[in-house]
Parts: sequence; C-alpha cells; structure tokens
Amino acid sequence: MDTYMSVKCYGKEAEEACMAAEREIQRLDSLLSTGKEDSEVSKINRTGSAVLSGDLKTLMEMSLEVWEKTSGAFDVTVYPLVELWGFSSKEFRVPGKEEIKETLKITGSDKLSYDRESGKLVLGDSQKLDFGGIAKGYTSMKLKEVFSSFDIDGAIVSLGGNVQTYGAKPDGSPWRCGIQDPFSSSGQSVIAAIEADNLAVITSGSYERFFTGEDGKTYHHIIDPSTGYPAESDLVSVTIISKNGAEADALSTACFVMGMEKAVKLWQDSGRKYEMILITKDGTLHITGGLKDSFQTNSKFEIIY
Ligand code: AMP
Ligand code: MG
Repeated sequence: MDTYMSVKCYGKEAEEACMAAEREIQRLDSLLSTGKEDSEVSKINRTGSAVLSGDLKTLMEMSLEVWEKTSGAFDVTVYPLVELWGFSSKEFRVPGKEEIKETLKITGSDKLSYDRESGKLVLGDSQKLDFGGIAKGYTSMKLKEVFSSFDIDGAIVSLGGNVQTYGAKPDGSPWRCGIQDPFSSSGQSVIAAIEADNLAVITSGSYERFFTGEDGKTYHHIIDPSTGYPAESDLVSVTIISKNGAEADALSTACFVMGMEKAVKLWQDSGRKYEMILITKDGTLHITGGLKDSFQTNSKFEIIY
C-alpha cells in the first residue's frame, strides 16, 4: 500500500495475531495495489471487465455508495487523473488544461456498469480503478476480524498514519490516537489527541503526498473528480472516526474534496453516525460534538453540533 505500517498486539496469542495481520495486509495489497502488475485491480484495469466477488465486490459497492452520497467527490475511477499528475509513477508533472479535459472524459463512476446481483463490472472506455482512497480503512476493518479469531486482549494498527484500535489497552486505560499536525513540515508532531476504543481514526490531508511544480506551487494527491486538479477547499486535513474503517476512509477523502460546509452537511444528513476533526487553512480545529469529552488540543478549536 506504498506506506509505513505497524501492528502491535497484546495478550496470549499476540505474536500469532501479529503474523496473521501481516498476512492479511499482504493479501489485500496483492488484490488492490495499482502499482503491482499482477494484482487483481491491475488485471481489471487492463481487461476492462470482471465478475467481482469477496473483498472486491464489497469495496466496489461501498465505493459506489460513497460516490453517490458525496455527489461524486469520492470516485474510484479517478486513476487516469492520478496517473496524469504522476502520482502513480512518482514522475510528477503539471498536466496541461487540454490533457485534463480529455482525461475527464473517461473518468466518472457514472461511466462504468456494475450489476450488484452478479458482480459483473464493465469499465467505460480506458477507465481504470483506484481503491487507494478506501483500501487502508478497509484493511483496518478486516484486521478487526483477524484479531477476533485470536486470544488477545488488545491491538493497535497504524496504516500510514490511519489508526485502528481493538480491544483493551494493556493497562486498562483507553487507546489514545494522535492527529498529525498538517502545518508541521517534519510530519512528526501532533496537533490533537483523542481517545478511541475499537474505532478507526482515518485522516486525509494535502500534506501527505505532494510535489512542487516548476511554477513553485504545490500539488497534492487528492484529486477533485469534477475539475481534474488537486482538490482546493478551506480544509488542510480531515479525520473521520468511526466503527466502519472503510467508510471512514472513503469519507475522509471525499470530505477533503468537498470542503468544510458540505462535509458538515453530509455528517448531519447521515444522522451524525461518525465523528470528524476538520482542520481549516487558518489552523482552527472543527470537532464534532461526540468527541467533546475525549479529545485534547492546544490549538484553537470549535465544536460542531
Ligand atoms: P486518502 O489518503 O485516503 O485520502 O486517499 C488518497 C488516494 O486515493 C490518492 O493517492 C489516490 O490514489 C486516490 N484518490 C485521489 N483522489 C480521489 C478521489 N477524489 N476519490 C477517490 N480516490 C481518490
Ligand atoms: Mg481515504
């Protein structure tokens, strides 16, 4: 998954649980990686069609649901744009307006056909899938299942800074997760901390992956599917805290694209069933009400209800 991962387990079968977690991460990586030629997703991207089952079927359906719910802000067909900007090859470049316009003609989940019943997927012309915006959260959700089959007391997983906690902390206190400071260049400092037992804490930020163009501007890896350019809003980072890691991951990417106002509206419309920490460009933390008693920060914050 092209990132640093760490798994810690505590209890009687901690070692076995860690090894099983590693195997599960490798398994999902071989399925979902766009960078590996022999992954299932790469094969689908070459052939343009497949009958989906298991993980891929679940991921496709979740992705389409979030695509619909976010009016297209989360879109698994964004990959041709990711490639165009060089985020897949790491040969970064600022594409021309015409190239972007042409590529936008092929992207869009409305241009693929998918049948839930049979799992039959047919991509539109030259379309390619990228589950990079949901894969880490989905993996953390699957790891919960892995952990439940071992005799362990607790576990904490970090997949590129996205955290999943499981069970109890060895000393009985709640698990605490740090939210990375998007304004720190070292990538090491924390802007807030929250208590999160049996929850996924998933962050999307413009500081995670970016390059500086010849024009001196920075371009990051979260693409606005409606413009083809890196998403520009009032947000620098979005953290979603939820029991459902996959949904949290897709939503963190989508909310980053949508901006603060729409992200809050989506949260209200969905019955406030997850929590959020939105950090705006002015450095303010906007925290949903449910986190009121479980977070700490030295920064300026306001609570959203
Ligand atoms: P995340 O770190 O979860 O926000 O995911 C970012 C990754 O998802 C990028 O590196 C791309 O591979 C992919 N991606 C970028 N923009 C989008 C988007 N609008 N919808 C879905 N996936 C995206
Ligand atoms: Mg995401």
